[in-house]
Amino acid sequence: MKNITDYNFLNKRALIRVDFNVPLNKETFAITDDSRIKGALKTINKILADGGSVVLMSHLGRPKGGPEAKYSLKHIVSHTSELLGREVKFAEDCMGAETLSLVQNLKAGEVLLLENLRFYPEEEKGDLPFAEKLSKYGDVYVNDAFGTAHRAHSSTTVVAQFFPNDKLFGYLMESEIKAVEKVLRGNEKPLTAIIGGAKVSDKILIVENLMDVANNIIIGGGMAYTFFKAMGKNIGKSLCEDDKLDTARSVIEKAKAKNVNLLLPIDHIVADNFSNDANHKTVSVDDTPDGWMGLDIGEKTIAFYKETILNSKTILWNGPMGVFEMENYANGTVSVAKSVAEATEKHGAYTLIGGGDSVAAINKFHLADKVSYVSTGGGAMLEYLEGKTLPGVKAIID
Ligand code: AMP
Repeated sequence: MKNITDYNFLNKRALIRVDFNVPLNKETFAITDDSRIKGALKTINKILADGGSVVLMSHLGRPKGGPEAKYSLKHIVSHTSELLGREVKFAEDCMGAETLSLVQNLKAGEVLLLENLRFYPEEEKGDLPFAEKLSKYGDVYVNDAFGTAHRAHSSTTVVAQFFPNDKLFGYLMESEIKAVEKVLRGNEKPLTAIIGGAKVSDKILIVENLMDVANNIIIGGGMAYTFFKAMGKNIGKSLCEDDKLDTARSVIEKAKAKNVNLLLPIDHIVADNFSNDANHKTVSVDDTPDGWMGLDIGEKTIAFYKETILNSKTILWNGPMGVFEMENYANGTVSVAKSVAEATEKHGAYTLIGGGDSVAAINKFHLADKVSYVSTGGGAMLEYLEGKTLPGVKAIID
């Protein structure tokens, strides 16, 4: 497999699948968070610096099978130009003779952005002829869209087969894969996985996959209560998936059999209502009052988890420890975020914040630059951690 650093793009036209699915203001269409565009700059700049030209393709939002002005990628042209410090040309359709001619006239150092791929239903269907048409736009195919790497779409996966000798990962894809592989290979022990969030059903495959490499699995958030109920504890009105009680029991058994420490909260903040203003107090997990619900981990749990986190050499964190969106139940998540940052800075641990709400939490608490890696790919990262092979990754490696 070729890699982007060693590849010389001189006089080559690179077709890059980027993830420019950025949030836009509903009225002004201004970009409200440009981190996905920034994430692709290193790849684009390397190709331009080599003396190549760039064709960018992406989706934006969820159009219903045809063009919709609100999902047009034209809204991001000027900002992308500013970030790149050069003009970005725009093709108003990702298909057609006019676009092909724009592509063919592209000179070294020039950048062309194609209109939203999902204006064609063929894209999400992984249509082969559609992918073949896209393939005509480049001499080399670069996939830098980790956020869509779990989708077998035309532009993320199918198109790669038309570049048997010239397909590679962009820098963002490379770093995401490196980060998650570092955790899954689990060479630096002890390895601790902190898994939180609302539901056991969303995270169970990750927990099971990590069971083979992790020394400690810390559980927090709403999913802890399905475990507690399975253990026979009273959980009051706490979140619980009654159809997952057997799953929780089997996780407890497997952890024992594999010698993995499964850490569950010892105390928690319970409230008489799902509201920031509800009456709330900290109690042992054995003393949940009837009619109350657990919404955050307690101080004893925070200290207990901190000790494990600070003794770890590799840490994966996915999912909040409580309802961190409400101030009164944010402390568990903030404290875990701080412990993960401390493990990174003071103890040299490798720390990966893997997708979803834990990324939102680490950003909210301004700790993103104090951990080793914050993943940009929500669903893609979850599937990778579950042990699945992502089609977008496989298409480049094969
Ligand atoms: P997930 O998307 O599965 O990572 O879940 C994140 C959501 O779980 C957040 O919106 C949290 O507010 C919610 N959550 C975390 N802990 C609890 C809890 N104890 N009870 C109810 N919801 C929770």
